[in-house]
Amino acid sequence: MSESLSKELSEKIERVKAHLAKAFADAPVTEDVCLTCSFQAEDVLLLKLAMEMRPEIPTLFLDTGYHFAETYAYRDQIAEEWGVKLINLLPAKTVAEQEAEFGVLYQTAPDRCCGMRKVEPLFRAVAQYKVWITGLRREQAKTRATLEEVAPFTLPGGEQVLKLSPLADWTTKDVWYACQHFGIPLLALYDKGYSSIGCEPCTSLPVDPNDPRSGRWAGRKVECGIHIEAAPARS
Ligand code: SF4
Repeated sequence: MSESLSKELSEKIERVKAHLAKAFADAPVTEDVCLTCSFQAEDVLLLKLAMEMRPEIPTLFLDTGYHFAETYAYRDQIAEEWGVKLINLLPAKTVAEQEAEFGVLYQTAPDRCCGMRKVEPLFRAVAQYKVWITGLRREQAKTRATLEEVAPFTLPGGEQVLKLSPLADWTTKDVWYACQHFGIPLLALYDKGYSSIGCEPCTSLPVDPNDPRSGRWAGRKVECGIHIEAAPARS
């Protein structure tokens, strides 16, 4: 560990650990709890904290086939160095098959592309678990402003999982300081100015410095769909 932490951030880390500890105590079977990881900073931080308690936690990565080469290299580096139980979620069609059949959907119909390459594979996988841990934060986007740390989530097939977002109240600075503190190397694309990193064709440098996701989908949309519930979880 390098950087010392403020009292506030130390307390936030302890709260995250308490959330994780409770989730693991409530779901003691390893295969009941998964963590989704895009290999952006908050997800990698959360992965590190989760692996301290459950080193074999299933870690789901949406392998759309459209990621930056840097993302794939970083994913492989972290997975190997940390011994991550990495599960790459693949869409039904390869990039070549999809483009041959439907054209370049990220240009013509990004919602459909995200649906096929992210939403469907992710929901199909998450349905196998009882608890889904995410690195989502309220500060990331207006669509996430009301994010709860713990909430039931209903999948399109009607299955319900408990969605745990223990970094919900974290700021970007919190994430950076904590990563420094724990000595976590970060995806090299941050050094090039990217603040939110997804598939390469749909990610550019942020156009609004106050909106970290303003480089995603060139303003055409703000979410890929995996964090949008299919139906109300509560009556
Ligand atoms: S982010 Fe872009 S390339 Fe990736 S699945 Fe969505 S539309 Fe397709």
